[in-house]
Amino acid sequence: MAQREFRSSVQNSKPNPKFPTVSHFSMRQKIAEHRRSLPIATVEKRLIEEVRKNDILIVVGETGSGKTTQLPQFLYNAGFCREGKMVGITQPRRIAAVTVAKRVAEECEVELGQKVGYSIRFDDTTSNLTRLKYMTDGLLLREALLDPHLSRYSVIIVDEAHDRSVHTDVLLALLKKIQRTRSKPTGEKTEIGNLALEVQTNTRDENVPQQNGVSRGCQGRKLSPLKLIIMSASLDARVFSEYFGGAKAVHVQGRQFPVDILYTVHPESDYIDAALVTIFQIHLEEKPGDILVFLTGQDEIESVERLVQERLQHLPEDKRKLLPVPIFSALPSEQQMKAFAPAPTGFRKVILATNIAETSITIPGIRYVIDPGFVKARSYDPRKGMESLDVVPASKAQTLQRRYGWKKLGVLPPIICAFWFIFGFYFSGRAGREVPGKCFRLYPEREFEKLEDSTKPEIKRCNLSNIILQLKALGIDDIVGFDFIDRPSSGAIVKALAELHALGALTDDGKLEDPAGYQMSRLPLEPIYSKALILANQYNCLEEMLITVAVLTVESIFYDPREKREEARTAKNHFASVEGDHLTYLSVYRESDEFLEKKKVAGSGNNIDKIMKKWCKENFVNSRSLKHARDIYRQIREHVEQMGFNVSSCGNDMLEFRRCLAASFFLKAALRQLDGTYRAMESGEVVHIHPTSVLFRAKPECVIFDELMQTSKKYIKNLTRIDPLWLTELAPHHYKTAE
Ligand code: ADP
Ligand code: MG
Repeated sequence: MAQREFRSSVQNSKPNPKFPTVSHFSMRQKIAEHRRSLPIATVEKRLIEEVRKNDILIVVGETGSGKTTQLPQFLYNAGFCREGKMVGITQPRRIAAVTVAKRVAEECEVELGQKVGYSIRFDDTTSNLTRLKYMTDGLLLREALLDPHLSRYSVIIVDEAHDRSVHTDVLLALLKKIQRTRSKPTGEKTEIGNLALEVQTNTRDENVPQQNGVSRGCQGRKLSPLKLIIMSASLDARVFSEYFGGAKAVHVQGRQFPVDILYTVHPESDYIDAALVTIFQIHLEEKPGDILVFLTGQDEIESVERLVQERLQHLPEDKRKLLPVPIFSALPSEQQMKAFAPAPTGFRKVILATNIAETSITIPGIRYVIDPGFVKARSYDPRKGMESLDVVPASKAQTLQRRYGWKKLGVLPPIICAFWFIFGFYFSGRAGREVPGKCFRLYPEREFEKLEDSTKPEIKRCNLSNIILQLKALGIDDIVGFDFIDRPSSGAIVKALAELHALGALTDDGKLEDPAGYQMSRLPLEPIYSKALILANQYNCLEEMLITVAVLTVESIFYDPREKREEARTAKNHFASVEGDHLTYLSVYRESDEFLEKKKVAGSGNNIDKIMKKWCKENFVNSRSLKHARDIYRQIREHVEQMGFNVSSCGNDMLEFRRCLAASFFLKAALRQLDGTYRAMESGEVVHIHPTSVLFRAKPECVIFDELMQTSKKYIKNLTRIDPLWLTELAPHHYKTAE
């Protein structure tokens, strides 16, 4: 392992040897102390006053200043949760909703699911007692389907608004509408979309029962005004302020600690290897303090985790006190929380995170940040109907956020000021501890200047069919005229409408089709997956489709370590189906089920997790992904059963199942060409079968695929072999003109 040579940037500062020591306080005292030390703590009263005065408030603040964990508690203490009302806090990322809710429950000394809870797709911990509800922005949008006025909420905080996730953008527009409606005098007719609703004056039902984490409708309850708080880490809050008609913005500021930014002298061809070298360089040469590494996804994180463990074995015994801790969204939540626990005495933690750790979650104890400068980003070409998730260079804004990973160690002196609608009040706080950190950027300094300033809002680079289906279900029919903060291209809107129409969710005049469109909008899945489940119900293979959709929803079910490629391939061949990947996934899932049943019968109930992990390891199956898929299967099954579907199986009749796949995924079909490449029938793009597909060598004449991604080539992933004639037979509305 060659050492990397780093060059410091101009922002050099002297290192400070101070490092927090473990205090003797009890956990409770420590938490109370920590809360008091946060910059936001000293401005609690002022912030609450601002919330009372302004129906919309924009709160901007440095990462780690206490916005997400503290402001909801301030609101609770100030009485915003009286009479059964809730404060809802939305996050673009599931993992943030979960970890922050757990932390706040701990701070409030309550069990999760009582006063504090979270609700995310496929995981709801809230109850009728919940008053501070953390959730994903997507989940709140779904709640609006059942309760168009979001009447159980007194305050909604849209957190991480700078992230500009597609759900955040749509939510902002919807909340703007809902807020207007709720501020109208009672008894007046109001409209949300074209759903005319009468604002009722009846008395409020205190504890409205919840169903699947979703509050029931607001009928029979008086509507009270809704407060909106938009929170953002970046300084560019102007866009939100303007969108909300000049809303007031306040700034909670933490002090910026000295930062040593180091760049590699030469470009790195393999950033994973460079990250590994840097981890060990820090571990062996730098002062105590945890390391945070930004990687792009689960596969990368797991591979670095493994490589760190392996390389540690080559170090002398006393140098092995380095603990890799992964954190990414598909990780079971008890494991996610490990990132927040202090390292065992004498150990140094190395947190391997996705960009979740940029601003959404704040991990204490970080002193070193390694930033390879990449991120996995979604992009979409509406002309070709091609969506891809690619590893691309991070933006300057992201890179700047990453640099502050260590800052959370210290006590930050607070300054709060209202900016651009200033009435200029400043609070100066105590001087904070100096806790400098180092940020190792794994690219030369000149590359930084070439990065994009900020990331494009997701709404401008994603397939809109899911969001448009939801807007339609909310009664918003005029999508082009909808008040988006950043309007998506009309090409993307038209494409999504056409796709929804082809899938049978919309009528010829763009209204929701009854019942398919309504059913599809109710399922928390991509429209194409919902369509597959609805069809599978008719083809009597719903059981198989539920498993398939669950597996497609998680990250790769196979475990494919770089250094054991051959062994992994042999193991995969055992499950491989000549018909393709979907059937292969089915056989992994079914075999693991059979194994589980056998072990349960044999009385291994208590040890089941361990036994299952062993089975996964032997079979090169990713145990985390499999567990996650099982969970998702169970939950979607509940959904479809509630919709009145009967979950039946086609047994071994895989022909019926493949025909059902063809009938559902007909928009994603590809035909082999003479030169062995494929042509995606919808877009006309030349594509290649991804090497991880079981059909990579077989190259059948016609396939349907689940994913089209662009890396070095345009690859199609997750394929099933079909008969091309099925397309005209099963999707005649789409393929009637096909040759
Ligand atoms: P912001 O939203 O302003 O970025 P947060 O409210 O998320 O800040 O975090 C405030 C502080 O709480 C940080 O200093 C962080 O270290 C601490 N914190 C947040 N979550 C946890 C957790 N799960 N465990 C321990 N400390 C946490
Ligand atoms: Mg936050």
